Amino acid sequence: MTEGLNKDFDKTVCIVGSGLSGLTCGMRLAKAGFHVSIVEELASPGGLLAYTRIGREYLELLPHHLRKSDKALLSLAREMGVEDKIHWYDSTWAGRASHRKVGYFDGGFSCLVSSLIQDITDCGSHVLFSTTVAEISELGTDDGSKGYRTSCILTNSTRYVIDSRYLIFTGSCRTFVNVSHGLPIPIDLRDIMMNVTYKAGLSVMLVSKKPISEMFFQHAPDFMPFDNIINHTAGFGERGYGGNVIYLTGRCSTTDNLWIESDASIMTRYFTALRKLYPSLRKSDIKSWRVTKTRYAISERYPDIDLTNPCENLYICTSGLTRFQTKDLPVNHMDPVVQLAGSICSQIIAKAKETEEKHATEDNQTEITDLAGLV
Ligand SMILES: Cc1cc2nc3c(=O)[nH]c(=O)nc-3n(C[C@H](O)[C@H](O)[C@H](O)COP(=O)(O)OP(=O)(O)OC[C@H]3O[C@@H](n4cnc5c(N)ncnc54)[C@H](O)[C@@H]3O)c2cc1C
Repeated sequence: MTEGLNKDFDKTVCIVGSGLSGLTCGMRLAKAGFHVSIVEELASPGGLLAYTRIGREYLELLPHHLRKSDKALLSLAREMGVEDKIHWYDSTWAGRASHRKVGYFDGGFSCLVSSLIQDITDCGSHVLFSTTVAEISELGTDDGSKGYRTSCILTNSTRYVIDSRYLIFTGSCRTFVNVSHGLPIPIDLRDIMMNVTYKAGLSVMLVSKKPISEMFFQHAPDFMPFDNIINHTAGFGERGYGGNVIYLTGRCSTTDNLWIESDASIMTRYFTALRKLYPSLRKSDIKSWRVTKTRYAISERYPDIDLTNPCENLYICTSGLTRFQTKDLPVNHMDPVVQLAGSICSQIIAKAKETEEKHATEDNQTEITDLAGLV
C-alpha cells in the first residue's frame, strides 16, 4: 500500500512514535494544515507515558508528575484544555520535608494524551498503531526536493509505505541509525548518534491494600534491585484505584540477567527487597502488580552537537537529544521534549510557507510568460 505523492505533498509529514514528542508534533502540524501520519509500533499511544486502567482510574505504567517549572508542558496542557485537571500537592521526599509541589492530572496523563490524539484526528490526520517502522529511505520527487519513504510492517506482516515531504523520528537515536541506512548521513554523525546511550527501565507497579509510608519519593538503598520507591498514593491520594499504588523503578542494561527474567521472578525479587524496608508488608496485601520493561528508558550520554536535523526535511525529536538544550539537569524530561517539538514544528511550518511562496511566484511567472505569448 502506498500513501502520499498527491498535489498537497508539500504538506505531508510522517511521524514515527506516538509518545509525548510524536503527539505534540502531530497536534501542532495537523493544526497548521499538514496531513500527518503517525506510526506507532505499540498497540496504544503514550510511549513512556502509556497507561492502563486500575480500579476506576487510568494510571501510567511508569510514575510521572508535573513540576511548576515545566513551563512548556504546562502551556501545552493549557492549550489542550486540560490545565484545570492539574492539582498541586505537597510531597515528602526522603530526607527532605515537603520541599516541592508536584502536579498530577485528574484522570492521569491519559487526559493529555487523549486530547492530543483528539485534536490530531479532528484535523483529518491519523495514528497507525501496531505498525513498526523498518526502514526510512529517500524519495525522488519531481522537483528534486527531498521527500521520504517510510516502510512499515504491520503485526500481520503486511508492508505499508508512507511517502511524505517531512519526517520526524521520535524513537531512540539507536533505532534511528538502524532504520536509516539508506539516508545520506555522514558516518561520523551516525557514530555520534549510536553513542547516545540509554539505560533500560525495569519497573514494578504494585497496588497494595494498605499504605506502606507517607513518603512520596525515596531512593532505595544500594543493595536493592531497584533505584527508587515512588509512593503515588502518598503523593496524590487514594483516588479511584481501589488501593495504594507504589512504583519500584529501576534501571538495568539489556545484557543483565534481570532483563530477561520472567515478570513473576522480577516481581519476587523486587517485593522481597521492599519487605526488607517494610517488614509488615505481606504478599496477601498486594491486590495486583505489573512489570514494565522499557528498552530505551533513560538517555545517559548526550551528543555535544545538534543532531535534530541530520538531513533536509528530516528531524529527530527525542529526549536523548534534549539535554544539550538546557543548562539545568532535567530530572524531568517531558518539558524539554515539548520545547524541542515546538521548535521543530516551527521550522517545518516556516519551510512549508517558503516552498508555498516559491511555488506561487513560479506560477505567477508562468502565467506572465503565457500571457506574453498570447500578446
Ligand atoms: C520511569 C520513568 C519515569 C519518568 N518520570 C518522568 C516525570 O515524572 N516527569 C518527566 O518530565 N519525565 C519523566 N520521564 C521521562 C518521560 O517519560 C519522557 O521524557 C517522555 O515520555 C519522552 O517522550 P517521547 O515521545 O520523546 O519518547 P517515548 O515516550 O519513548 O516515545 C517514542 C515512541 O516511539 C515508538 N517507536 C520507537 N521506534 C519505533 C519504530 N521503529 N516504529 C514505530 N514506533 C516506534 C515507541 O513505541 C514509543 O511509543 C520518566 C521516564 C521514565 C522511564
